[in-house]
Amino acid sequence: MSQLLARFDKNWIGVAAIAFMLAACADDAGVTPDPDPDPDPDPVVVDPALPADWQNPPGDLLAGSSTTHGSTGVTDASVVAPFMRFPFEEGPAFANSQIFGQGGGGYGGGAWPAPGGSENDAANFDYAWRDNFCEARTNPAKHTNALCDGGLGHNGQDIRPATCENAVHWLVAPEDGHISWVGSISVNVFGAESGYIYKHLHMQTPLPGWVEVGAPVTKGQRIARVSDRLSSSSRATTVHLHFEIHGSAEIDGVMRTGPLPPYSSLVEAYMDLVADNPDQIDPVAPPADITKCTEPQWP
Ligand SMILES: [Zn+2]
Repeated sequence: MSQLLARFDKNWIGVAAIAFMLAACADDAGVTPDPDPDPDPDPVVVDPALPADWQNPPGDLLAGSSTTHGSTGVTDASVVAPFMRFPFEEGPAFANSQIFGQGGGGYGGGAWPAPGGSENDAANFDYAWRDNFCEARTNPAKHTNALCDGGLGHNGQDIRPATCENAVHWLVAPEDGHISWVGSISVNVFGAESGYIYKHLHMQTPLPGWVEVGAPVTKGQRIARVSDRLSSSSRATTVHLHFEIHGSAEIDGVMRTGPLPPYSSLVEAYMDLVADNPDQIDPVAPPADITKCTEPQWP
């Protein structure tokens, strides 16, 4: 019986079955319980709102998009921030490359070419998610990353909101903490539970007196709107969030400090968002109003 209890210790149905059998044994000690009453006691729960192939695995970069023209980033699937809320208030959201996606500008003056097309392409606002933490970058002052090919990487994950409308979609605090930095296009949050710094770029310029350094925030609190700002006077490739997690965590068996791969944490947080807000999110249908968006205006 102890073996049966151990088998079912994570399964309420199993526990209920054990309780029933114990009661039955008390009534009729001569009956031996079925040694395997349910050969498949743990049903697989699939979130009905997300398509089965909604995400590529961590480290699966777009072909040739790493700094050494490779296609592999950080494949360790560790969720470094398991308590993190998804950074957009609502979905759907699409983690994917901006400069190597449709309508992107490529990188390195053609050394890493762009695929063409339009940033409004429906493919940019659809699944599957794509990791771009180790996407090509070449400035050691900004892009050093020992986890990525060539020791250089993008250091964050780019995420499109539901539509490419500028300054419409809300960025929210990933956990309780406080605002630790406000720049012309950036808002950082210090997470009190994790000790991480969450960096958010390309935001609409925060309003003075609204989010200020030191101001406390609660998980899910609105802190900025997702925008296309590269600086206060120029445009990033697209309307998107560039999201970074800074802190220390074990990656591929080594303790790392610096920008941590956020992809798997975002996957987990997004699944939570979809599960918690099934009425607010239509994760399957492409947004109908992406034609509202403007074409890129290269700075
Ligand atoms: Zn980015």
